[in-house]
Amino acid sequence: MVEENLRQVRTDIAAAASAAGRNESDIMLLAVSKTKPLSMLQEAYQAGQRRFGENKVQELVQKCSQMPGDVEWHMIGHLQTNKVRQVVGRAALIHSVDSLHLAQEIERESERQGVITSILMEINIAGEDSKYGIMPEDAIRFAAELSGLSHIRVKGLMTVAPFTDYAEENRKYFRKMKQIAVDITAQNIDNITMDILSMGMSGDYKIAIEEGSTCVRVGTGIFGERNYSK
Ligand SMILES: *Cc1c(COP(=O)(O)O)cnc(C)c1O
Repeated sequence: MVEENLRQVRTDIAAAASAAGRNESDIMLLAVSKTKPLSMLQEAYQAGQRRFGENKVQELVQKCSQMPGDVEWHMIGHLQTNKVRQVVGRAALIHSVDSLHLAQEIERESERQGVITSILMEINIAGEDSKYGIMPEDAIRFAAELSGLSHIRVKGLMTVAPFTDYAEENRKYFRKMKQIAVDITAQNIDNITMDILSMGMSGDYKIAIEEGSTCVRVGTGIFGERNYSK
């Protein structure tokens, strides 16, 4: 099932890219494997998938130790400062940096380990109370604050768009994300590039691609519904 789903998602990504006049290879697919058993990750791996996203540190660390070494791990969930130590050096990209305090902790730990950590700034694009992320109007200021942290490279922006049954409703938020990236790029801030726009999930990734996403995070569409009741 995972293999078929993956093939379908990749086909859909290619179609959406092509329809938008974009290159399929400019869009990375993150398989969001949170709550799913190792066997399903292995199935995805067998089907050629190498990038996986997790939202809990514990789970990321555990799966990281059990999967082949060429898997690229992405931390996509809210990150507490006391767990930064376990993520730095393991995650290829931390998508969910939403405060200077957290960034400073990533900076400290990266310096300690002698590594440079790639991060994204998480934006609460619709200003939802229930969501993490900095407000759109604070994005440029936040970028400027991160610029001084020499063991961090800001690679772009991430957002979790509102939950909706009508993906088209999120188009305006994806468009706004793209505009923020353009505005930050125009500021020419040291250590900050806007190469990655991490947006679009199972329900709305095609629209996100049409609006410029370079990284879609797909869980349900690959692994099926999650069951949190266990
Ligand atoms: C769970 C999760 C996803 C994947 O959601 P689906 O709707 O299952 O594709 C993407 N991004 C983040 C941050 C998530 O927590």
